[in-house]
Amino acid sequence: MKSEDQYSRHHILPKSRFWSSEPSNIEIMKNSIHRSLHTLFQNQMIAEQLITTVELSGKALREDVRQWLLDTLTSKNIHDPYTWYKDECVR
Ligand SMILES: [Zn+2]
Repeated sequence: MKSEDQYSRHHILPKSRFWSSEPSNIEIMKNSIHRSLHTLFQNQMIAEQLITTVELSGKALREDVRQWLLDTLTSKNIHDPYTWYKDECVR
């Protein structure tokens, strides 16, 4: 079996930022997807990943739409997942 076809454990809220390894914070994913995710987003929080996505999509978005998205995404503390996610969102 190629390692790309194997699965690994991803921390939804990054372990590198001291989030736990409890099951609710773990997502099992294929190695190929897992590596792609970290290539694109490193160990960003999910809100930061959304901001990165908006910035990467900047040329495809109308300027006012892009600014509205960035204003919305930064209107809360992007480092505090509890201002972003209810318990049922982080499984
Ligand atoms: Zn990971």
